[in-house]
Amino acid sequence: MNFKMVVKASYHDIPVEEYFDGACPECRSLVLKIRSSYKRLLPDLGAPREKRFLRIKINYFECETCGHSFSPKHLDYPSKLEYAPSIIHYALERYFRDNISGKKIAHVLKNSHEVEVPVDTVNSWIKRHSTDYLKSVNREKTLEHPESIKTVTIDGTYTSTGRDVIGKKKPVVSLSLTKQKNGTYLLTLSEMRS
Ligand SMILES: [Zn+2]
Repeated sequence: MNFKMVVKASYHDIPVEEYFDGACPECRSLVLKIRSSYKRLLPDLGAPREKRFLRIKINYFECETCGHSFSPKHLDYPSKLEYAPSIIHYALERYFRDNISGKKIAHVLKNSHEVEVPVDTVNSWIKRHSTDYLKSVNREKTLEHPESIKTVTIDGTYTSTGRDVIGKKKPVVSLSLTKQKNGTYLLTLSEMRS
């Protein structure tokens, strides 16, 4: 295996057509004039010795029909975004799944993925996106056969243990669930006698 030491850059181009339908947002005319354009560069999650970038083409249009001038926005890459979403996703994943600190994540991003991100920025991502990240992780844990889940109904009777139960709790040996012939379930708690 030949280990490369030189860092090379690679670009993923995103054309305007990918996020703009070509119609004036005011009058839906398709006759537009490009006033100016540039390419917005966003650092992406790279590989060892490979710096990756997203290169998004941004156009400023002027509608030839109504005169409206505008610049279409890519919904996946809001203008205040400084890094590709894949980097932010990566940071959240390492933090929650692998239990790695923001400082270590910044280190790994720099040394293995060719992205320089300040530790404070990594920590701000974790703070800001934790709720959404955890929600999406929980959504992924959907069951393949939800119909196979049986619900246990408890009939509502109980025995009051009173105040003196503290310190006298009996160890539970087993909790078992048995399906009966009539289709109902029997929940049995067996205790050890001391
Ligand atoms: Zn127009």
